[in-house]
Amino acid sequence: MTRRSVTVVGGGVAGLSAALALALAGWRVSLRERSDAFGETGAGLQLGANAQAALSRLGCLEAARRDSTPLPEIWLRDGRGGRVISRQGFARAGHPPNLAIHRADFVRVLADAAEAAGVDVCFGAAVGEPWDIESDAVVLADGVKAPVSRAALGFPAPAFTGQVAWRALVPGGEGGDRAEVHMAPGAHMVTYPLRRGKLLNVVAVEERSGWAEEGWSIPGDPSLFRDIFGGFSGRAGDAARLADEVSVWGLFKRPVPRTWHAGKVGAVGDAVHPTLPFLAQGAGMALEDAVVLAPCLTNAPSVGEGWERFTESRRNRVVRIVAAADRNAWLYHLRPPLSWAAGAGLSLGDRIAPGAALRQFDWLLGWRP
Ligand SMILES: Cc1cc2nc3c(=O)[nH]c(=O)nc-3n(C[C@H](O)[C@H](O)[C@H](O)COP(=O)(O)OP(=O)(O)OC[C@H]3O[C@@H](n4cnc5c(N)ncnc54)[C@H](O)[C@@H]3O)c2cc1C
Repeated sequence: MTRRSVTVVGGGVAGLSAALALALAGWRVSLRERSDAFGETGAGLQLGANAQAALSRLGCLEAARRDSTPLPEIWLRDGRGGRVISRQGFARAGHPPNLAIHRADFVRVLADAAEAAGVDVCFGAAVGEPWDIESDAVVLADGVKAPVSRAALGFPAPAFTGQVAWRALVPGGEGGDRAEVHMAPGAHMVTYPLRRGKLLNVVAVEERSGWAEEGWSIPGDPSLFRDIFGGFSGRAGDAARLADEVSVWGLFKRPVPRTWHAGKVGAVGDAVHPTLPFLAQGAGMALEDAVVLAPCLTNAPSVGEGWERFTESRRNRVVRIVAAADRNAWLYHLRPPLSWAAGAGLSLGDRIAPGAALRQFDWLLGWRP
């Protein structure tokens, strides 16, 4: 019997994991990436229990673990004063630690597995209009800017959210195997170790009225970064003072569309459900998409029906995840007196119901394929 063919557009986490899942399900997969190599950009990613479950289904969990630093706890701190407001342990809530991995290491894990499963990867192969893709199915994984998905599926352009993310890697993540969220009025910084503590990953978010740059990510000015975040305490302030190379990302979003496909063509990952990074779930959702998509497209009577099943299985969940990330954006940037009230509530919660803060995310972390 001839194997059915699928073309995947985009070689980020969404495209690579979808290509791998479909190859494992028996499809002949070709992946087209516009860059000349898989991207190095993006620094660290956290992978929660749900992302790990999807990786296990893809046969990549052990390889990802080897390159990861486990983060058994998340600490919420007052960014300026340094006080620990809440310590949230995954074990207490019955979940494995988050895994922290460099995006370049993670993309390599997925790319190696995809190539071993027979995915044919084509670099420098931007898909543009008019496009004539003859395969039986087309998976668009072209990221938040989604040039192809917008043209093919009519998604609207994403809008600037009023927030920018500074990203940096600084030396010295040893001894602090936890994610720390340093909260302040209108800004916050997340820090966690990478590459077994050789590096500290820094994502610092501030509110801004506009984003005038052409691109989504531009080199940032380390002295401006220090001006904004150098007054933070503890490892957040140290990181702001140490960073000599920073990039700035405008954070963009658009509502999750009702329809995700047209005929044999559909979208996955940031192309269809871009999210703010405050729940660390963009890559997690992309991995979940991959392991749900493969059986939907494989087992449905037609590819179009497969896409319908996929959208039906995924839409409510991703809408809920995107909304939960928006709520964290609000919580992390509160101003007094609301920040005092929220802080007191979190500290009290830790004392009277340890583990409850993370257990409220059972619906998210407890997902299994
Ligand atoms: C500051 C920040 C921190 C984050 N932290 C986390 C985290 O801790 N945990 C987590 O799970 N997620 C996190 N994310 C989100 C995560 O990075 C993304 O959601 C995830 O990587 C999914 O990306 P994607 O593959 O859909 O898109 P992308 O990574 O953008 O990949 C799209 C690919 O498509 C290619 N492409 C585009 N157009 C074309 C074309 N016309 N032809 C061919 N190829 C094309 C691009 O070159 C690119 O390689 C974070 C995001 C940000 C901004």
